Amino acid sequence: MDSSEGQSALVAEPPSKESSKVTAFRYCYFQGIKDNQWNDWRWQLRNKFTTIGSISSIIQLSDDEILAMEDLSTSGRLAANITPYYLSLISPDDARQPLRRTVIPSLEEFRNCKDEYEDPLHEDNDSPVPGIVHRYDDRVLMLVSGHCASNCRYCTRSRLVGAHKINHIATEQQLIAAINYISGNCKIRDVLISGGDPLLLDNNALKRILEKLRAIEHIEIIRIGTKVPAVLPQRITPNLVDILKKFHPLFMSLHFTHPDECTFECAKACSRLADAGIPLGSQTVLLSGINDSVKIMTSLMHKLLMMRVRPYYLYQCDPVFGTTHFRTPIEKGIEIIAGMRGFTSGYAVPTFVIDAPGGGGKIPLQQNYVVSSDRCGVELKNFRGGIYHYP
Ligand code: SF4
Repeated sequence: MDSSEGQSALVAEPPSKESSKVTAFRYCYFQGIKDNQWNDWRWQLRNKFTTIGSISSIIQLSDDEILAMEDLSTSGRLAANITPYYLSLISPDDARQPLRRTVIPSLEEFRNCKDEYEDPLHEDNDSPVPGIVHRYDDRVLMLVSGHCASNCRYCTRSRLVGAHKINHIATEQQLIAAINYISGNCKIRDVLISGGDPLLLDNNALKRILEKLRAIEHIEIIRIGTKVPAVLPQRITPNLVDILKKFHPLFMSLHFTHPDECTFECAKACSRLADAGIPLGSQTVLLSGINDSVKIMTSLMHKLLMMRVRPYYLYQCDPVFGTTHFRTPIEKGIEIIAGMRGFTSGYAVPTFVIDAPGGGGKIPLQQNYVVSSDRCGVELKNFRGGIYHYP
């Protein structure tokens, strides 16, 4: 961040409507920044917080966080990277605040644990051409960007987020090779565009990719995976939405972590997407001390539904390097889903999955509701533990 921006003597125009945390944050640190700058996604990206100096000008970093950030700069690991908007949601003085732990590095990331890997899902092994991961017959993952608006400390693809290692589609030649691969495989009917975050591409680049995919006859649906509505809702502009809605059926999977992300700004972004007829689903990683309770998970899922985002997947945290402190026992996820199923709308309950290490794909998990079965019928346990017979 250019530190002069936080010091300007100009007074901000009263914001039209925004979250109270955002208003307070802007008042303290960005008084000279007008609404049209703050609400410009490119301004947000230009003013990201990435260094100890810039972050500590806003939040009181603990010794642990400072040491971790110093080590990051020499280790080549996933850099710290936070938009001003997302930083406004972070506690300046509580190092245990859930959102803070998801984006501010800690020394726990440097603990060496066996059974953690750079590429736990073996995506690189399933990559026939750069930027394509082809694991399931009828669908592919297309990695079009190596950058994110804010970096999550538990990122499964931390190996490719940031500039240090490029194994996503980075050149025109690679894009052509990826498109040729998809058009040459007529079993592929579904393409998930991801990264990094695909919405960090500019509108023209994104449109070009979508046009190329839509020109392939056997492609039925296109999906976009993104965390932008949570960390950079300013990116969901009317222009972007106008482009996206030309490529239906187009679905979006939105990454959310905690109910605190469901702000006015985020709701507005989701509303624009939903109004354009884009079905929205959520993806959440189960994280120890951040969202690993029935209460927090239910609150998050309720808030997502209110933003017209259908809870979709809850992921067990992948065994990527430096994430032991985030991982819960598998039983915790099963317990959370059991604590939601039947106690709230079925629409609010995501599917808990483990993405099997080594490239086995997603495996759903839930408590067993079948107690026994024989020729006379099945004994079933309901959500309250009552036993029922189905003939
Ligand atoms: S938004 Fe997704 S790809 Fe980007 S850092 Fe977070 S988890 Fe990784």
